[in-house]
Amino acid sequence: MFKRSAESHAGASAKKAKRTCKYQEKWTTEFEFVTKSSKGEEYMYCCVCNVDFSVASGGRNDVTRHVQRTSQIGNAATVKEATKIDTMIRPATISSIRLKKRRLCLVLS
Ligand SMILES: [Zn+2]
Repeated sequence: MFKRSAESHAGASAKKAKRTCKYQEKWTTEFEFVTKSSKGEEYMYCCVCNVDFSVASGGRNDVTRHVQRTSQIGNAATVKEATKIDTMIRPATISSIRLKKRRLCLVLS
C-alpha cells in the first residue's frame, strides 16, 4: 500500500515535529464498533457509520471523538424513531444496534 520514506519527510517537517499516529489493535477492543481499516495503518473503520476515519493526527483522541459522535447520532436516531413509531413497533435501542454492529465488526475483521 503506502510506502512513506521517513528521510525525505524529515527535513520539511522538522519544524512542526508532526507525529503520525497509527491504528492500534487495543482500540478495537476498547471501542465497540471500530475495527481495522482497509485503507491503511493511519485509519480505522467505523461499523456504524460505514466510514474509514483517519487517526493520523490525534490517535486515540480521534477514535474517542468519532465514537462519541457516533453514539450521539445513534441516540438521536433512537429517540426520533421512538417518537415516530410509538408503540406499534418497538424501536431499536442503541445497545441492540451496538450488538448488531459488533457482530458485523467481527465478521469484517
Ligand atoms: Zn462512526
